[in-house]
Amino acid sequence: MANIGFIGLGNMGGPMAANLVKAGHTVTVFDLSEQAMQTLADAGATIAAHVNDCAIDKDYVISMLPAGKHVKGLYLGETGLISVLDKTTQVIDCSTIDAESARIVGAGLADANISFVDAPVSGGTAGATNGTLTFIVGANGNDFAKAEIVLKDMGKNIFHAGDIGAGQVAKICNNMLLSVLMAGTSEALQMGIDNGLDPKVLSEIMLQSSGRNWTLELYNPCPDVLENVPSSNDYKGGFMVDLMAKDLGLAMDAANHSNSSTPMGALAKNLYNLMQNQNMGSQDFSSIFKLFSKAE
Ligand code: NAD
Repeated sequence: MANIGFIGLGNMGGPMAANLVKAGHTVTVFDLSEQAMQTLADAGATIAAHVNDCAIDKDYVISMLPAGKHVKGLYLGETGLISVLDKTTQVIDCSTIDAESARIVGAGLADANISFVDAPVSGGTAGATNGTLTFIVGANGNDFAKAEIVLKDMGKNIFHAGDIGAGQVAKICNNMLLSVLMAGTSEALQMGIDNGLDPKVLSEIMLQSSGRNWTLELYNPCPDVLENVPSSNDYKGGFMVDLMAKDLGLAMDAANHSNSSTPMGALAKNLYNLMQNQNMGSQDFSSIFKLFSKAE
């Protein structure tokens, strides 16, 4: 069993750290929120008196933070963990951040001979709680094998996408496609409804036809087609519009960087930004369906 420091105990990081405790690892935790740390202490983790206590004498340091600036601030610079990390410790950042920030942190830590991998996740809060996340890892050389040992206690599928930064690129490619599928599924369902079809019947037909896709099958955006999905619960829970908009911003940055043409992703980003401007940011991202609904 490993000695692990875990930093960032939010909606995702909290249950991920709890699963490491459950698996028998020794886990020391830190968050800016006292309450988040207390919840993990109740689950069997040790609260760090200072963030550095999450890094000293650890086999792994895992972080799950909002954005690239938080990750760079945590590890690099004069006050960064880089000054206290051992050369034998592996740093695993599971946050969804821009690939460039991941590469900067990786290069900074590599200069100090410290292993770093980016390992963003797919699977949402339910996957974090159930330990069924998909990890999409960017790692150089043999670093993937070491990361996999501990990631398997928080997830089901662990992919090696390529070198450092590749995990972030693969993650935003997936989420850009997901946003396009969700928008397209929503407009097709609403067009069917407007022309007199029952959305359940139309969903069944398209599921057995060439329009079949993940959003239609498992995350249908039209209320009451599926049970236990956010659309049937007033678009509460799930994956927030704000987070999708953030990921689409990262996707557009990556596309600019590589001069890639992403017209569908750009349109999806515009639609999700529109939803944010209409105070829909905290609703599940399938609420894009409401943009297409006609006023009653
Ligand atoms: P969250 O806002 O719930 O949690 C972030 C946590 O980080 C908070 O508890 C905050 O106090 C803490 N934090 C911020 N700065 C810190 C610092 N300097 N030191 C210590 N703690 C600090 O966010 P989340 O939903 O857990 O998401 C975390 C990451 O996972 C994001 O990058 C997000 O894009 C990604 N993600 C989220 C989901 C999801 O469904 N929520 C799914 C996949 C990926």
